This record gives sequence, C-alpha cells and structure tokens, in this order.
Amino acid sequence: MAKFIFVTGGVVSSLGKGLTCASIGMLLERRGLNVRLQKFDPYINVDSGLLSPAQHGEVYVLDDGTTTDLDLGHYERFTNTKLTWDSSWTTGQIYQRVFEKERRGEYQGTTIQVIPHITNEIKQCIMRIVGLDTDVVITEIGGTVGDIESLPHMEAIRQFALDVGKENCLYIHLTLIPFLKAAKELKTKPTQYSVGQLRQIGIQPDILICRTEVSLSQDERAKIGLFCNISTDAVIEEKDKDFSIYEVPLSLMENKLDQLLVDKLHITNVVSLDLSDWRELVSKLRNPQHEVKVAVVGEFAGYRDAYKSTYEALEHAGVQCNTQVRVLWIPSRDVLQSEMRYELNKANAIIVSGSFGESEIDGKIESVRIARENNIPFLGIGLGMQVAIIEFARNVLHLENANSTEYDKDTPHPVIALLDEHHTYTRNGGKLKIGADTTVFKLGSRVHDIYDKNQLAYERFRHRYEFNNQYRQQFERSEMQFSATSPDSLLVQGIELSNHNWFVGVQYHPEFKSQPTKPHPLFKALINAAIKTSQ
Ligand code: GLN
Repeated sequence: MAKFIFVTGGVVSSLGKGLTCASIGMLLERRGLNVRLQKFDPYINVDSGLLSPAQHGEVYVLDDGTTTDLDLGHYERFTNTKLTWDSSWTTGQIYQRVFEKERRGEYQGTTIQVIPHITNEIKQCIMRIVGLDTDVVITEIGGTVGDIESLPHMEAIRQFALDVGKENCLYIHLTLIPFLKAAKELKTKPTQYSVGQLRQIGIQPDILICRTEVSLSQDERAKIGLFCNISTDAVIEEKDKDFSIYEVPLSLMENKLDQLLVDKLHITNVVSLDLSDWRELVSKLRNPQHEVKVAVVGEFAGYRDAYKSTYEALEHAGVQCNTQVRVLWIPSRDVLQSEMRYELNKANAIIVSGSFGESEIDGKIESVRIARENNIPFLGIGLGMQVAIIEFARNVLHLENANSTEYDKDTPHPVIALLDEHHTYTRNGGKLKIGADTTVFKLGSRVHDIYDKNQLAYERFRHRYEFNNQYRQQFERSEMQFSATSPDSLLVQGIELSNHNWFVGVQYHPEFKSQPTKPHPLFKALINAAIKTSQ
C-alpha cells in the first residue's frame, strides 16, 4: 500500500513549499523509496501554459508536453521521479473534469456540489498517480490555509485519510515563525492561528516545518508543539538559506526529517541516507575558482522566476566548472539603450531566451549581433535561436527586413514561419510542438561534440514557428550550420556558426533537463567557453 504525504502552507505565501516538497521527495528517494510528486494549484485557469510569466514565473514543460507551474521544475531537479500529465492540477482542470462527466450523464441528474463532486475528483487525481511500484505520493496543496480557493482541497485531503486509513497518511504544514527585530523574539502566534484553521477543517498536522530567520531553541520548539498539539520532535526548523536553495535538503536531514517521515509512515524497508554528492555540490558552490558574467536577455528579465530553469541550469553548470556564474538580467526592450549595450559587450557569455507573443524583437536581434560580431559565447534558446537566424539573414545574407511571420506577417523574407504538415511554408496553420522529442545532430558539429558524440538527444520543445526551408540552401552555403534537425531532417532544431568562438542556437529548451549534479551539456559547454573569454 502506498503512503500519502500532504503538504500545506500557512501564514504567508512564497514560503518555498515547492522546494520543501522537492527536498522531502529527495530525502525519501535516497532512503530507497519510490516517490511520486504532484501539485494542486488553487487558481481557476484551465491551461497553465497561458499564464503570464510576469505573474506566475516560468511555464514549465514536462516530457509528455504538460505545461505546469514552476514548482514542478524543483521536483525534477531534486528527484528522479517521473512527472506526467497527472502530476499537476489546477482547480479549473478539476472543475472541467466534473463538467465533462456531467455532460456525459455520469451523475445521473444528481445535484453537483463542491462536496462530494469536486472533492471526489481531487481524491481521484491523488489516487491516480499511484503506480504498482509507488511507495510514497507527495501532494503539494498550492496557496495558503485560509484561502477560499484552497478549501475544497483541504476537505479532500481530510477525507482521504478516512478512505485509506490515517496510518497511511501524513499531514505536513509549512509555516512561518517571524522574528521581531525590535523585541528580538520569535513569534509563534501566526502559526498557532494557521494550525487552528487547519484543525477547524479537521486536519491535525503531524509535522510542522518552520521557516525562520533564526534558529529555534528547544524551548521554542516545545512551545510551538504544545500550542499546535504536535510533539516537539515533529517541529522541524527550516532556517532561511541566504546562500543556496540546494542547502535545504541538507538542513532538513540535519533536523532528522527523513527518519521522522519514515517512522511516522511506518515504513521499515529503507536504506540509510547518503547525501555525500549533494554535500560536495554545496561545498563546490561555496568555493568557486572562477567567476563569469552571463547576460540573459529576455522579455521578462525583470522577473527572476520567469527564467527559473535557465538560472538553475547556469548554476548547475557553474558548479561543475568550479565557477560562480553572475547573471545579468537584461530586459529585451532595454538592449537598445547604450548602457545595456555596454553591459552586453562586457559579458563573458550571452543567452537570448525563449518567448511567446513578445511584442517586438529588436533588442534580441541587437543582442545576437553583439555576440556574433564580438565573438562572445552565445546560446539562443527557442525564440533565441529564431532571432539568431533572423539577425544572420539580415546582416550577413543581406535579406533585407527578414523576420519571423510571428512578428511581421508581410516580411519580404519570412525566414521563420509557420509550416504545414509537409513542413512547407504556410500563412495559416502551423501546429504547437510541445513536449520531448528526438533531435538528431550533424556528425562533426559542435553540438555533436558537446553531447559526447551522441547522435541523438531527447529534448523538450514548446514552439509553433520553424525555420522556413525555402531559405535552406542559401543558409547552407554560409557559415551558419544546421547542426540539429528532426529525424526526417526537415525541421531545423539547432544552429551554429563555423567562424565564431562559441555560437549555438537550439529550438528546444535545454534548461528543463538540467539537474544540480547532472548539468545539461549545452550549459556546461557555454560556461567553459565563458571561462575562456574571462581569462
Ligand atoms: N514564439 C516562438 C514560437 O512559437 C518561440 C517559442 C519559444 O521560445 N520556445 O515558435
């Protein structure tokens, strides 16, 4: 029988519930358990792919093409668990399933209500991800206890213990213990209220994970435990990590959370915990031997979370290369200002990010020009690759006003355009390519080398526009090489310049496949190239 862990959040939002769930998943996986992770988001949106990165952070893409909240990125970076379409649910999607059932007549005319119909649907979505080999399911409930939107989820997870037995369920509440500087005191009252609210719903948390600025004394833990009806050993401190998020699992382990989880879930067949590779990771992060500056040009560069996976992938690559990566975030529209151009010229590497529906791409085109003309290592991702093609078409091949039809429908040179099912240019149509697929590298190309001479890779895509094959010959006679294509070689998925230090563009999103101890080869190669330019 699988065991179920439910993680709720209290007092304030943005406590790092996703990171905590990912860390719990990692600790259990390393105790030898088969873990699955899942998140319920309280918002009504049906399609997470349409959420603005400025409000919600990056849209994360799974192998199977599901678009999700960025927390699922943490799950994949910390654990090896497989995430699929049933790992992420918004309230809108839950309601949609209920509406579809009603349309199919499955409720036989009964009145449809939040309890039991919505709550049953939530419970089914939890049960659905239990596989034959699953030991533990970790379910993150988005939002904060007390939110109107989260209420049906709280009710559903309360009922869940009735269905499967309390001994198979564990409720973890992540909360904030604020430190009042004037009084020099930690305040436990908000947590008492938050747990009080949970208990009103009928949930008594088994474990309290306390986010705090300063360490909790034994007395403070005992006091929190007493007021919240939790034994002192189940009041776990999670102190702020001013250095790196990758310290979170280590500190939870030091606070003996892994053993507490195993004991409380009555799991016996576990192995002892070995986090030595993770410790080494954090120690390398703390002791870099080089430093490089990487400029990331993006529409939402003002919002860090909009490029979460790119930032993490740079950090992973930096650790492997014993290098501290300083990221300069450059909003695309500011590139045309002289001080931003100066910053780009000084950078050791430039990344031009992907984007959907950006209003203009002049800043991105200029960033590519700076990288290309000054031999600055360059990585173009998604739209970043497309823009590199447009820049080359305009400034090297002299195709005046070349563009993507996404930005100029009437461009005389639609080098990036929508393609029909035969991969030929079309004005209407074009399909969204979403999820992981095989890409094939050209023998002897730079990317072929970077991927350890593997000829294929399985990478995640999310785009609609493609390179227009009408221009293929013209490009193939130039220094721009098409180094990655679809298996039928009809879709261009990677480019590079033969007369440049390090200039690569890929249509896919390598950042989604990078893990702290297994950095993505493209990011690693970029950082190595950046180190060379910094010396
Ligand atoms: N907007 C572009 C397209 O749809 C690029 C998307 C991306 O950056 N992944 O093709």
